[in-house]
Amino acid sequence: MRFDVFTLFPEMFPPYLDESILKRAREAGLLDVQVHNIRDWTADKHHTTDDVPYGGGGGMVMKPEPIFAAVEAVLGAPPACPVILLDPQGRPFTQRIAGELAAQPRLALLCGRYEGVDERVRQYLVTDQISLGDFVLTGGELPALAVIDAVARLLPGALGDPSGAADDSHASGLLEYPHYTRPPEFRGWGIPDVLLSGHHAEIEKWRRREALARTFRQRPDLLENADLTDEDRAFLDTLRQSLG
Ligand code: SAM
Repeated sequence: MRFDVFTLFPEMFPPYLDESILKRAREAGLLDVQVHNIRDWTADKHHTTDDVPYGGGGGMVMKPEPIFAAVEAVLGAPPACPVILLDPQGRPFTQRIAGELAAQPRLALLCGRYEGVDERVRQYLVTDQISLGDFVLTGGELPALAVIDAVARLLPGALGDPSGAADDSHASGLLEYPHYTRPPEFRGWGIPDVLLSGHHAEIEKWRRREALARTFRQRPDLLENADLTDEDRAFLDTLRQSLG
């Protein structure tokens, strides 16, 4: 899968992309991330990428010409793939959206800065807008990396253990069960006996119930859309009853 990232700060990307799973996915040819500096498509001698807002007020606005020029030079006109603006006004990013995006062969990510991009970029170039959450960052670079990261780990072959992503929080609509590793006792704190039993069916049952209980306690809103069996529902009923 290929990402084309458009940014004013291309140097922010290699430190993250050159580590761990993303580095391995790129080396394996599963993931290709090309980062483009919007400033390279400015036409004036000062390489201007932003200007004051019409109507006054503080802050600067990213000019439309270099953004259109950069995206169209790399992706054609109209662009050959979806162009996603990272934006706090976009649809909130979720695991479901990461799954949708992972099915695409190519995506463009556009990172805003300052007060954001000229509205005509949003209207006539961008095909989707994604927000990392209801807060405002200084730029779209961290959100773009978050999208690349979440999508890359869904690409077949990207994770060492291919079953890992299936159990992750949000993959099935539930939060994931707790994990423990060695030592079995640390500062007097043990681990649940079932995990040492070697009984796989019991371990699976314990994990499912822990995932349900954790979701029930911490994110009950997720249960409305989770994929639940009759046994899951009965277990959740006992949890509700235990609360009185
Ligand atoms: N004035 C804009 C507003 O109120 O909607 C916020 C601009 S923000 C300071 C600058 C850039 O950071 C945005 O154009 C966007 O690319 C990025 N950004 C900030 N918060 C974000 C978020 N929660 N999700 C995705 N991108 C975000």
